Amino acid sequence: MAGEPQDDCLFCKIVAGQIPATVVRQTETTVAFRDINPQAPTHVLIIPRVHYPDIATLGAAEPGIAADLLRVSGEVAGEEKLESYRVVFNTGSGAGQTVFHAHAHLIGGRGLEWPPG
Ligand code: C5P
Repeated sequence: MAGEPQDDCLFCKIVAGQIPATVVRQTETTVAFRDINPQAPTHVLIIPRVHYPDIATLGAAEPGIAADLLRVSGEVAGEEKLESYRVVFNTGSGAGQTVFHAHAHLIGGRGLEWPPG
């Protein structure tokens, strides 16, 4: 059923507490934790508790939860005292998505080039 936890999903396991993560914020609908392989001084992933493979399917099925990812990204950026930062949703393997459970990357704490690679 749409949104249900998937046995083979790493991020569903983090939501369930079955895999450790450095959690920085939790809400009723989201979990935010530090990326295990940080690409910047601040690199936090914000994920929905429900399982959808990417931001497009999450946004179509649960737009309120998709908005929660953005709200929490801003809240964590504030807690991390980031003046400039980037929120990224890699969508599809060609864009670098490797974990197929929707997630926002919050990246900051260093200069960020544009356009991204
Ligand atoms: O956008 P993408 O799917 O590539 O992002 C997945 C992210 O999940 C990676 O940045 C990776 O370092 C992170 N990750 C993590 N903890 C894990 C496995 C992956 O933070 N246990």
